Amino acid sequence: MLLKLCVLAGSSKGNAIFIRINDDRILVDAGISARKLEKLLKEINEPDPGSLTGILITHEHQDHSKGLKTLAKKYHVKCWLTSETYTKIRPKSGPIDTEFIEILEPFKMGNINVMPFEIQHDAIDPTAYVLTKDDFRIGILLDCGKSSPFLFDNFSNLDLLIIEANHSFDKLLSSDYPDFLKQRILSSKGHLSNWTTAEFISIVKPKIVIITHISEKNNSPEIALCEIEEYLANTGLEEWPFFVIVNPTTRSAIINK
Ligand SMILES: [Zn+2]
Ligand SMILES: [Zn+2]
Repeated sequence: MLLKLCVLAGSSKGNAIFIRINDDRILVDAGISARKLEKLLKEINEPDPGSLTGILITHEHQDHSKGLKTLAKKYHVKCWLTSETYTKIRPKSGPIDTEFIEILEPFKMGNINVMPFEIQHDAIDPTAYVLTKDDFRIGILLDCGKSSPFLFDNFSNLDLLIIEANHSFDKLLSSDYPDFLKQRILSSKGHLSNWTTAEFISIVKPKIVIITHISEKNNSPEIALCEIEEYLANTGLEEWPFFVIVNPTTRSAIINK
């Protein structure tokens, strides 16, 4: 099996993840401009957005969907998402080629099996995914306020987990963000912190972890790694995953297998 994966963008300004398994090429979210996406895809030697099998959307927020309209129309790429999410995206995207998905109903994008899971976030129908090809499993858990035993069960023992570590709890509390915004981020419909992400990792025990969506204001790659390592050390976890930390200002390295 050929795997090629790159987090093209991972921050509150925009998110897009390229995943290629054999000849199937999937983009998870299109939260940067189509022009930037074209440039980044060229950089990783995948120059034709028209060859994408499809775009898989986690939720409607701009940092996950703003490049969708141009990308879907210019290159006729199909978009997989829930009908509720489409009702929120459609006023901006106009009609695009869609395939509606239902939570907990598995579907296929090319030869890749995809299972959608409901998560908590302040969007209409936020979704996490597990992609499976043969017995290789990739979990994608982006904007999410709260994990759950159900998610722990379904995300356990992944080969690769892509997960957000949005903020450092201490840094967010002492930031100059207004109280309502702090409360929104910290709520069960907000975002995972370095600690809640570390807890998730310590329970589901993936082989490889890609940490993304790091806040530039309330976190940094260094702080995220430090707080996650500290947490894992305290749990006494014996087998640590291989870590890739995505810098919010640049694309990740290309992960090849
Ligand atoms: Zn986001
Ligand atoms: Zn969001």
